[in-house]
Amino acid sequence: METETETEAARGQAQEGAGESAPVPAQEIFITVSDALEYLFCPRFIFFERCLMIPEHQEKRYKVLKGRELHEVREKVNRDYVRKKLNCTKKEISVYLTSHKYHFKGEVDEVLFLEDGTAAPLDYKYAEFKNTIYKTHKFQAALYGILIMEHFGVDVKRGFVCYTRSNNYVAEIDFRQKDYEKAKEIVREILMIIQRGYFPDGTKQKARCVDCTYRNICL
Ligand code: SF4
Repeated sequence: METETETEAARGQAQEGAGESAPVPAQEIFITVSDALEYLFCPRFIFFERCLMIPEHQEKRYKVLKGRELHEVREKVNRDYVRKKLNCTKKEISVYLTSHKYHFKGEVDEVLFLEDGTAAPLDYKYAEFKNTIYKTHKFQAALYGILIMEHFGVDVKRGFVCYTRSNNYVAEIDFRQKDYEKAKEIVREILMIIQRGYFPDGTKQKARCVDCTYRNICL
């Protein structure tokens, strides 16, 4: 489960720039799905955190929100009820998966095995559904889909996000091949920033810079 605000839906284009670090063999590096969420908020977070090793205070906020989310889910969500609506024949809860092929890992709230023989990630959000699937939710689900396919050897054609602040509304995301390609590209770009010290463009949504930890060294 990941937390975020509505504005966490943008990403910039990574480009070569400042910072030289010794390349590390790709096989020794694994990023997390949380790294991908940070990258989607602003690609420079990865550079400051992982290349310059400057911690981001938002992490603290993230943990607080995550704790709230967990509490909310445990206390209020009838998970069986949510799953029943999805024609699921079997499920696994809190599944920690690693992609050795693409070098990332993450914990999926639930892996659902569906009647049509495919599987799907189900993620719980302490958030309202605002009639749209944010890019962050979509690519997070797609990354989980990649992890599930690699680990369980089944097709993943869709993902689900349960919005606990909208009466547990479950939104379905139909994955296309291009979604998976984009998700893999995000992982590749993050690995490139970490391995080669690329200084990526910052977010195009400048409102995010206002209370950013890195504002003084970034702009
Ligand atoms: S100041 Fe803006 S561009 Fe720089 S890291 Fe923060 S959010 Fe990104």
